[in-house]
Amino acid sequence: MIKPELESAINAQINQELAASHTYLAMSAHFAAANLPGFSQWMDVQHREETLHAKRLFRYLLDRGGRVTLGPIQAPPSEFGSPSEVFRRALEQEVANTDSINRLYDLATTVNDHATKSHLQWFLDEQVEEEASIEEILGQLQLAGEDTSALLYLDDKLGARSTPEPVPGADASN
Ligand code: MG
Repeated sequence: MIKPELESAINAQINQELAASHTYLAMSAHFAAANLPGFSQWMDVQHREETLHAKRLFRYLLDRGGRVTLGPIQAPPSEFGSPSEVFRRALEQEVANTDSINRLYDLATTVNDHATKSHLQWFLDEQVEEEASIEEILGQLQLAGEDTSALLYLDDKLGARSTPEPVPGADASN
């Protein structure tokens, strides 16, 4: 049985993953409206991934005999500015999420919950990838500058990103 303070913190993290999912969906809509379907697709995949992250924690909490309590999610903006501004915001969101997972790991350490630490290891590794991929795109946008051809090339490239495979344990119906 999971300790109540950890149950509460995992529920907060589930909410944070769903809030991130919601923001990425809004970013996908923003890019679709800006005639950048590749960027829109990339953000849609990101949206789906965040939902899967929430479901991983959802399933884990249930497996540990905890109770899942979903909270409200704040409405994301509908306007995000230039592609660089959108990705800067995405990076800020990921950095905040990394901090949040680190705090959750600290709490699991404090209460000696080794199974939760083990479960969170996957998230720590994932955050390294998340931040690196967004930083790479930001760097490429900087290289593209005001060059529309370069921007459209990048849009084409990002559009090739495919929908993530469901991860074991992430499907709440399992
Ligand atoms: Mg996530």
